[in-house]
Amino acid sequence: MYSNSLIELDRAHLVHPVSSYRGHEQQGVRVLTSAKGATVVDSRGRQLVDGFAGLWCVNAGYGHESIVEAAARQMRDLPYATAYFGLGSEPAIRLAAELADRAPGDLNHIYFTLGGSDAVDSTVRFIRFYWHARGEPQRDQFISIEQGYHGSSTVGAGLTALPNFHAGFGIPFDWQHKIPSPYPYRNPVGEDGNAIIQASLAALRAKVDTIGANRVAAFYAEPIQGSGGVIVPPSGWMKAMRGLCKELDILFVADEVITGFGRTGPLFACTEDEIVPDFITAAKGLTSGYVPMGAVFMADHVYQVIADGAGTSAVGHGYTYSAHPVSAAVGLEVLKLYEGGLLENGLRAGKRLMAGLESLKDHPLVGDVRGRGMLAAIELVADKAAKTPLPAEAQPSRRIFDRAWENGLVIRAFANGVLGYAPPLCCTDADIDAIIERTAKTLDQTLEDPDIR
Ligand code: PMP
Repeated sequence: MYSNSLIELDRAHLVHPVSSYRGHEQQGVRVLTSAKGATVVDSRGRQLVDGFAGLWCVNAGYGHESIVEAAARQMRDLPYATAYFGLGSEPAIRLAAELADRAPGDLNHIYFTLGGSDAVDSTVRFIRFYWHARGEPQRDQFISIEQGYHGSSTVGAGLTALPNFHAGFGIPFDWQHKIPSPYPYRNPVGEDGNAIIQASLAALRAKVDTIGANRVAAFYAEPIQGSGGVIVPPSGWMKAMRGLCKELDILFVADEVITGFGRTGPLFACTEDEIVPDFITAAKGLTSGYVPMGAVFMADHVYQVIADGAGTSAVGHGYTYSAHPVSAAVGLEVLKLYEGGLLENGLRAGKRLMAGLESLKDHPLVGDVRGRGMLAAIELVADKAAKTPLPAEAQPSRRIFDRAWENGLVIRAFANGVLGYAPPLCCTDADIDAIIERTAKTLDQTLEDPDIR
């Protein structure tokens, strides 16, 4: 068995997340072996610019010795401590305090999870508990947005609105509702920002009316819809939606699992959007992907209701690895790096990235260019005027992803012909220029592909 190649072992034993199992068996695994800065190296020795920071998570970039040291030190001192039973560890307490200090408004209470999915799942539990404590247990209906992504737990995947997260899984639940996406490039009301905001407000009001005003518990929104195809709502959209939720007494959850920690510029995209939600969910950039960790930020008024509601009883929600000391030690170090220059570099690199992608706008395949900070996308079309999508049966994403890889670039190729970019914030000008040049080359090759056009 040990003489088998890695590809064969993988095919036989490793079940990959969000992949076609049969497609993967045919294609075989691609293995990465090392990384530094914004460059990853594959098992064939090819160096690639990681234009997607792993899975939008390695915001600090690869190879930071200080992060390795922080983790090693913590593993030596205390590799594990539960946060149950009133116990704790210094890094988890310090990280919670540092995060609360930087979070918008009164989001002062931090509940650590293992990643984004269980952060979202935790909000659903907290929100249910909150409404019970307020004497309104009938508020058990949740609203999210088409093309939204809120994780892969059974409950979170129901809030998610991507078809392959639902089909065959028996979700969404009947208490999970959706309103249309504020998708400027493909919106029935056109691309005008104000019209889109008004349409979203009207859709949320209508949905609440249909469900019943006293039945709705919470509304979930990503500041930028990530996995739906990097959909950037018009400026002012988050503020308007947050305002309406306040008016309707619905809790507002900003899912910042992607947008947090410098991805769009500041530590929290909500700051730029000038809102204070009732909850923020975060993960990914929190530890920059070096170790798993997520977080729920809870507003003071929510925390107080839950705390009073439980009284002397335990709030029955926790994980063995909640507030893991090694992850927290990494989080503290990563935060230092962000504030020691990485956020600033990300802003600069983000401008260069956006300008570079804009320069591809005249390419015959490019229908739309969008983004904020180091989070961007181009949407490819077969016909620019008609915005005709690339033919899905030709599996353009697979081909474009493979071609980009051959050209030394890792991107995210979404099924709908959208190419996603989320490079590490440490990118140099040369890294960004390589991303743009290799994208241009990939697009030119795609243009020559008779199956795709
Ligand atoms: N929410 C959002 C907005 C996400 O983008 C993701 C992951 N891409 C999640 C939740 C789930 O996070 P995780 O994969 O860490 O469970």
